[in-house]
Amino acid sequence: MVTRPHEANPDEFNPWLRISSLIEKAGHLLGLDDGMITRIITPERILEVAVPVRMDSGDVHMFTGWRIQHNSSRGPGKGGIRFHPSVNVDEIAALSADMSIKCAVVNIPYGGAKGGVKVDPSALSRGELERLTRRYAFSIAPMIGPDRDIPAPDINTDMQVMSWIMDTVSMLRGHNTPGVVTGKPLAIGGTLGHAGATSLGVTICTLALLRQLERSPQEQRVVIQGYGKVGAPLVKLLTERGMKVVGLADIHGAIHVPEGIDPEKLALHFDESKSIMGYPGAEEVHADQLFELPSDIAIPAALGGVITEQVAEKMSAAMMVEAANGPTTGEGAGVLSSRNIPVVPDVLANAGGVVASYFEWAQDLQGFMWETELFHQRLEKTMHEAFDSIWERHLQLEVALRDTALVVGVERIAEATKLRGLFP
Ligand code: NAD
Repeated sequence: MVTRPHEANPDEFNPWLRISSLIEKAGHLLGLDDGMITRIITPERILEVAVPVRMDSGDVHMFTGWRIQHNSSRGPGKGGIRFHPSVNVDEIAALSADMSIKCAVVNIPYGGAKGGVKVDPSALSRGELERLTRRYAFSIAPMIGPDRDIPAPDINTDMQVMSWIMDTVSMLRGHNTPGVVTGKPLAIGGTLGHAGATSLGVTICTLALLRQLERSPQEQRVVIQGYGKVGAPLVKLLTERGMKVVGLADIHGAIHVPEGIDPEKLALHFDESKSIMGYPGAEEVHADQLFELPSDIAIPAALGGVITEQVAEKMSAAMMVEAANGPTTGEGAGVLSSRNIPVVPDVLANAGGVVASYFEWAQDLQGFMWETELFHQRLEKTMHEAFDSIWERHLQLEVALRDTALVVGVERIAEATKLRGLFP
């Protein structure tokens, strides 16, 4: 059941085909009728925008951007904006559907959305990046807002980009609109605790999985792909809880440190060299070998589609926690399942970020800031409740955690859709 045109190339991994078939499968498992399944799969709105930008040279370059609202039955759309040269409509549509499921899985009152611009931001000056962001924000402004759709940072977008979007929309509306985006700096309506919230959620899920498998966190060897907004705090959080990060990769390559990486030393090294490569004492290994390094826990925290059949076959770890969005292909998931490697799926494992966004938005609407302790307490409670409800259902259904999370997410969306009925 493919419910929108897609750029499918049969030889390439297509994230849209992957998520739509997963929702369909979950819908059948729940006994939903085809009409309801189609309604849940089909994105509600797809906006494609041309983004002309005056470059520093005086030339005008055209970029293409998208904002997609997947499903709003449980609340306004929520999802990040990524700037990356490989962005395309299928990827954004798939990520928007992931967000619908994710928000339902952690039971927060949002639907799913996602946006992106096909651009290599590293090739832009700061002025060009600001002009690109503001023009994109202007073009999607009719679709976003605190009660419609609330963007957030994703790959290659950060607090500064969110500040420009918030300012552009505020100028357009004629009043301050802090609740239009999350992931903002504290000075303009951000929240204490947001930085590292995704990584804290991944950590909570990793510890919860170890508890269920009756394993101690002490000395668990972890490999992580990605040392960005999610991967970097993760190295510290897992090490603080007794685990050893023995393998790490970024865009420049991979390192192997059997005795475990020292997070502080790595942070200092990264500040100077802007890469993990060259970390003192590390053996440099080929990026493709990262998941083959002797380890207990694998955490992809970079791009989608990297855990392929071949990678899954050679994976050394006994469990995987998906910090990245959509890191595992369908074939990869099949291999991990046949090897009995439990996987905490992205929609649960990396939901700490969206829960933090929900808390930021709630504070913006209330005009009342929470203290860090309260923020962390509520984040931990929400993540624990989400993990426990998925784990319990997983034992009942006797299907993989990924399928269980999808079933729970689809079930909650279907319940809201049924309760609201069909307009007109
Ligand atoms: P980021 O841009 O801050 O970092 C990405 C990291 O991946 C960098 O270290 C980069 O060097 C590395 N990388 C890029 N290409 C690579 C490659 N081919 N091989 C190895 N490493 C590579 O992005 P982020 O915010 O940390 O997001 C990482 C993943 O987590 C994405 O899938 C994103 O959708 C997901 N995610 C992020 C958040 C969040 O709060 N930032 C929340 C939920 C999910």
